[in-house]
Amino acid sequence: MTQYRVKVDVMGKQATEVNNPAELKASGLKATQPRLKILEAFQQNPVRHLTADEVYRLLLAERIEIGLATVYRVLTQFEQAGLLSRRYFETGKAVYELNEGDHHDHIVCLHCGRVAEFHDDQIELRQREIARQQGFNMVDHSLAIYGYCANPDCSGEG
Ligand SMILES: [Zn+2]
Ligand SMILES: [Zn+2]
Repeated sequence: MTQYRVKVDVMGKQATEVNNPAELKASGLKATQPRLKILEAFQQNPVRHLTADEVYRLLLAERIEIGLATVYRVLTQFEQAGLLSRRYFETGKAVYELNEGDHHDHIVCLHCGRVAEFHDDQIELRQREIARQQGFNMVDHSLAIYGYCANPDCSGEG
């Protein structure tokens, strides 16, 4: 049997929580207010994948005074510290998510930008086999499927 797991954004997150100053510090970063607030935004928002703009707007909605430049700077620092992963999808904007150490692939809506996650053992295995057939020892891969989602709020061509 193939194991097939689909994890959609709205399911929220379970795993590692790095929301206190000590854990931030363990990553080599001082727990400044903008850093804590940005980390919180990722941990508390039901949507796992966020652009810099979306993080900025989330903080503004909470009346947290922060500049967009600071948001960009902190996101880059978090990525370098391994707290966040950055993905580039064909929608043209970098998307950040908490780095929980698991490998997963993505499905991206070309209309509303919604991102879903999946992990399929057979796909993983086939990629490894194909790489081997070509004389490569696979180290990493990224796979993104593009389409239009069935979300009622999305008026794409789903
Ligand atoms: Zn959509
Ligand atoms: Zn993801």
